[in-house]
Parts: sequence; structure tokens; C-alpha cells
Amino acid sequence: MKKIAILGSTGSIGTQALDLCRRHPDRYRVTALTARGSREKLFAQVREFRPEMAGLTEGIDPAEIPEDLKFCRWMSGREALKAAAAEVEADQVLVSIVGIAGLQSVLDALQAGRQVLLANKEALVTGGHLVTDLAAKAGKPLLPVDSEHSAIFQCLQGAGGNQPEKILLTASGGPFRNWDQERIRRATPAEALRHPNWNMGAKITVDSASMFNKGLEIMEARWLFDLPEDRIEVVVHPESIVHSAVVFRDGAVLAQLGLPDMRVPIGYAMAYPERLETGVEPPDLFALGSLTFEKPDERKFPALRLAREALRAGGAACTVFNGANEEAVAAFLREEIPFGEIARRVENAMDKLNGLPADNLEEILDADRRAREAVRGAR
Ligand code: MG
Repeated sequence: MKKIAILGSTGSIGTQALDLCRRHPDRYRVTALTARGSREKLFAQVREFRPEMAGLTEGIDPAEIPEDLKFCRWMSGREALKAAAAEVEADQVLVSIVGIAGLQSVLDALQAGRQVLLANKEALVTGGHLVTDLAAKAGKPLLPVDSEHSAIFQCLQGAGGNQPEKILLTASGGPFRNWDQERIRRATPAEALRHPNWNMGAKITVDSASMFNKGLEIMEARWLFDLPEDRIEVVVHPESIVHSAVVFRDGAVLAQLGLPDMRVPIGYAMAYPERLETGVEPPDLFALGSLTFEKPDERKFPALRLAREALRAGGAACTVFNGANEEAVAAFLREEIPFGEIARRVENAMDKLNGLPADNLEEILDADRRAREAVRGAR
């Protein structure tokens, strides 16, 4: 029986992880659940899974807690994340909150000796060096939940210790893959939120349309698999069946295939090195018939070039890339700026803030704050 704490339990990853816990009650006991502000959803989860602790980071008034849920220890704000990551008893901590708060939670969980199932991108993007150092010292390798990184991690199980020559990071290309540059520049939030294959939250769906998501994933791969950016190649694969692949010296390529369903990578991280029954069917290769692959167009999607520039620059450049993008996406979703302006604002913030250090958490959080200010102040 594994004890699991879930940070961000009402989001897309959190609810699918709980689906797997529901499917395997003999294998998983949920000990902590946190959400940002979705009270009713969290109440229902606490009622069903009966964790020891639950919390809302937006805060909760004790008077709001339903009578039948008072068996549980309720917490608010940052304290709730801290308790779920490091204080409540757990073998595994699934960090599926969105944003840079994930960095602190991952560090807390690793320091407490927990196995981290990582579904938060920001932790590696902004503090990859701190997180991977701590994970190595603790002897607890990070288990990636992001579908591409899970695919690479799965392929490396068959590597027999051989280092890959290259990683092929697949990308669906998003809804604007075949649009011309001018039409992309003027795209609306409704258009950006129409992802062809994956059903995800709003921020990550916009990031898929702009390919900022793939830029962030290059950064994650750099830290998870310790490879420089020039050995991580992005391959546009519109069917989203090959979730990524690894190239070896002898010319062999190992890939992981599956339907685009996050329960597979979540289940792999939860049960590693075993495989869980997830309820997901394998892809029907006869029905698919063919799979296609294209080179990404970096003129239409400048996020890829900016991500590589940030990785080469080092310091806090990736933190600036991430913070500036998050702020620009929020402005886009409020319909304050056009789609094409997202990358332009990020590039301007990177130019303005180049050379910032990222040697510790304080410096990283400072760079994040300054990147956001740079985007908010821009016109
Ligand atoms: Mg992904």
C-alpha cells in the first residue's frame, strides 16, 4: 500500500490521479489533498478519499467546512502546500499545482525524503539545478508525469545504462500548425483554447498553441535527462501517438506510443517500475494507418528559439522566459494583447533582464517577479 499526497488535486492531472486511486483502492491510500480555490470539488474528494489533511491555498474559513468533513485537518495558504508536501505521512507526493509555487513544494518534498511525481513544469524550468541536485543527494529520482518526459523515461528503462545520443521530443503542433504567421498573430483566446488532441487547463492549452509549452519541455528534458539543448530535437507529430523517442549511438530509436491520455504517464509514475491497469486502450495501429512527422517552423513559433537561447544563457534566463510567458498569457486570455504579442513580450523581458543569477530560491523568485513586472509594464 502506497501513501500518496496530491498537491493540486482538483486540476486535470489531480483528478485523473484520483481516478487511478479509485481504480486501485488496494494499492493507494490518499493522505493529503490540496486545491487552489475549488471548494466543492475538494469537499467531494475529501468525502470520498478521506485524507488526513486537506487545504485550499486561497484560504478557507473553518465555518465553511461541512460537518461530515471535520475528521480531516484543514489548512490554508502556503502552509497547506508545505504540510501536504513534507509533513503529512506519504511515500509519494504528486506535485500537480501550476506555477512557480511548485518549486518550493518539490524542494520541500525531496527534503522530507518523499518520492516526487512531477507534473509541475516550473520546478525544473526555474530551479532545475537545485531540484536535480537535491533529488540526487536524496537518492530519489524524479518521476516525470509530463507525457513526453514519461515517454523518454520509459524508453530509457531499456537503455541498459547507455547514454542517449539525442532525444526526440514530439509536439502536436497545436491548433495553429497550418495557419500562416499573420493569422496566428491575430488569433483569439477561443481559437487558442481549441487543442486538437489533448484536453488540458487553459494556460497549458495556450502554451501548446504558441509552442511555449514545448520550449518549457526542452528545459525540463535538459534537467531530467542531463542533456544539452542541442541534443534535444523537437519533432512535430500531429497525431500525438508517439509521445517522444530516444536515439542511441548504434542507430536504434526507442519510442513510446499510446493514445493521448494522461492516465498512462500518471499511472507509470505512481506505480514505477510496475505498470498499472489504467483503463486506457492501446492505440489501434490498423485504424491509425499512418503517423506523420514534420520539422517545427521557428519563424511561426519563436518560443522554441527563445527557449534554446534561455538555456544557453543560463542563470535566471529560463525563469524570466517562464514568468514573462505566464504574465503575457494571462493578458492574452483577458483579451488585452493579441496572440502574437506573447512571444514579443517574452523576448523583450529576456533582453531587459539578461544576466540575472539563479543560485538560490530567493534569486529565482526575484527574477520571476521582475519578469512579470517587465511584461505588465510593457506596451
Ligand atoms: Mg507535455
